[in-house]
Amino acid sequence: MSRIPLIAGNWKMNKTIDEAVKSAQALVELTADVQDVEAMVAPPFTALTALAAVFADTPIHLGAQNLFWEASGAYTGEIAPNMLTNAGCSHVIIGHSERRQYFNETDETVNRRVHAAVENNLIPVVCIGETLEERQSESTQLVLGDQLKAGLANLSAKELTHLVVAYEPIWAIGTGQAATPDMAQATHQFIRGFLHKSFGNTLANSVKILYGGSVNIDNAKELMAKPDIDGALVGGASLEAETFSQLVCFNLGED
Ligand code: PEP
Repeated sequence: MSRIPLIAGNWKMNKTIDEAVKSAQALVELTADVQDVEAMVAPPFTALTALAAVFADTPIHLGAQNLFWEASGAYTGEIAPNMLTNAGCSHVIIGHSERRQYFNETDETVNRRVHAAVENNLIPVVCIGETLEERQSESTQLVLGDQLKAGLANLSAKELTHLVVAYEPIWAIGTGQAATPDMAQATHQFIRGFLHKSFGNTLANSVKILYGGSVNIDNAKELMAKPDIDGALVGGASLEAETFSQLVCFNLGED
């Protein structure tokens, strides 16, 4: 089954509104002719509304980097799902390893967020990944299986129709040390197999599984050529419009 690749940029805590708009405008120009590839940008919350205007009438999707599961109320500092849709978001990154590491997110809170996302028609980009120790002790599949099982608990295949999974080995994020294409493919194949067992063939075949962790213009093509790698979640290399647009175009074999 052919899945349309998705190249997603996670800008993390970078760019003021002005800087974000400038980058987004450049990205729109640089990707104007691209077809058959989806692009998504997740800027800081402060830039969402401005970028929604820049991406209006373009195929570039807008994503948030997090959400809270309650609809409103006394939750200082949190963002509700309908605030994100109202700001123009179609996607939301959930359970990024930095959220898990610095903000105590767990598979259980990831699960609550995924429920909230799907109930509000936001496409969840659910991040999973193992530490270096877990990889070295050959427990990667156990760890990823547990993250998927708990993170997607009590959700049906129907609710997960638009699910995106981002496999991001923690040791590869921001380190310049990407997983090898073969290593990433083997892990993506395991993830798809897990989805198959848990949710059936149709969902497993349609879910986009992105690779994330030091993707750059030198390694993207080989990674993206693998059958179970359906795109990338890109941190550092998404910050420059020129570089990010090249990653989007790589998927078309244009270099
Ligand atoms: C990320 O933070 O999701 C990420 C993959 O970062 P980088 O591309 O910088 O490794």
